[in-house]
Amino acid sequence: MNPNKIKRIREQTPGSAGVIHFNNAGAALQPAPVFEAVTDHLNLEYQIGGYEAAAKALPKTEAFYQSFATLLNCQPNEIAFIENATRAWDMLFYSIPFKKGDRILTARSEYVSNYLAYLQVAERHGVTVEAVPDDESGQLDLAALESMIDENVKLIAITHIPTHGGLVNPAVGVGKIARKNNILYLLDACQSVGQMPLDVQEIGCDMLTGTGRKFLRGPRGTGFLYVRHALIESLEPPFIDLHAANWIDQNSYEIRPDARRFENWESHIAGRVGLAAAVDYALDIGLDEIKQRVYSLAQTFRTKLTEIPGVVLRDIGTEQCGIVTFTKTGETGLQISKRLREKQINTSVAVVEHARIDMGERGLKDMVRASLHYYNTEAEIERFCEVLAETIN
Ligand SMILES: *Cc1c(COP(=O)(O)O)cnc(C)c1O
Repeated sequence: MNPNKIKRIREQTPGSAGVIHFNNAGAALQPAPVFEAVTDHLNLEYQIGGYEAAAKALPKTEAFYQSFATLLNCQPNEIAFIENATRAWDMLFYSIPFKKGDRILTARSEYVSNYLAYLQVAERHGVTVEAVPDDESGQLDLAALESMIDENVKLIAITHIPTHGGLVNPAVGVGKIARKNNILYLLDACQSVGQMPLDVQEIGCDMLTGTGRKFLRGPRGTGFLYVRHALIESLEPPFIDLHAANWIDQNSYEIRPDARRFENWESHIAGRVGLAAAVDYALDIGLDEIKQRVYSLAQTFRTKLTEIPGVVLRDIGTEQCGIVTFTKTGETGLQISKRLREKQINTSVAVVEHARIDMGERGLKDMVRASLHYYNTEAEIERFCEVLAETIN
């Protein structure tokens, strides 16, 4: 990314003047066009009324579906707006008709809330959930996955990039196996969407979910799902409302045929408009360019971190993204994150309670998670490492 472009992007990111924001896996700093899209709509609601503002914003709320279709290489009717990624994922997962004896295959670094849902459905329906082993690098082992397939596998559901580390799981490889065996494939793309190009045709997933506030730089309280068109009619949402279905006569209803069957009628319109603006903003910069910049910054950052006494990098996998995790001798992750925060450096902390399998077996209680985006700079990395290196007593 050329320096002028970065300069312009930082100017459009007023927050970057006041903080070193390495918490993009938590919630990224919003760019001005996103903030303005949200506040303009809120203002319109304030001035003319919520329903009236929604009617005026209809072209924008409809454009939301096309923006995501462009981002993910799918059709607009395969996209739904949901209030967050967890609910988006739940709407799809709980619509799958599981029966006793079905198997769910997942990854060892699966997102905590997804795993809780597996455990609940396992109890309810007598299905089993199995975490596919990792290969030596720490990513999901494709050969192991293939060897675990049989006619009882109902679903393969993995997290593309775990919330607690730099690992990028081989989503395309998993897709090939799912397609070959005709098994449903659900991908949690929360940390990858906005950080790199995602093409649902290339990945071969049937369903994909993500959030607005992380690498997409959208507003909080926004999320989305993608579901392959051919599948939609076979997936009945766990609950429906007047937007998801039509009340035909006193005793019958009909669920709508597009992905919006998973939406709520009432929703955060300003958030939806803001999220569409965030997708357009990312598309305008270019997802390939974003990925390249994020990966190269993260590589520089990892190299610098290893030069600091006591710091141990904790990222695993062959391909590593903009999420960087580490520990440092003598301080807990929480203490480090707090100390950095006092110097206007934002990070977050990954804890074992949210990654029982992966962090549990690696004997890690907590780690600092420093997640970089394209608007971060080498100078910020320098400053970060300077503060981190300070010895505390
Ligand atoms: C953040 C995250 C989620 C949850 O997203 P919400 O929008 O907070 O519901 C799910 N999966 C992964 C991998 C995440 O990092």
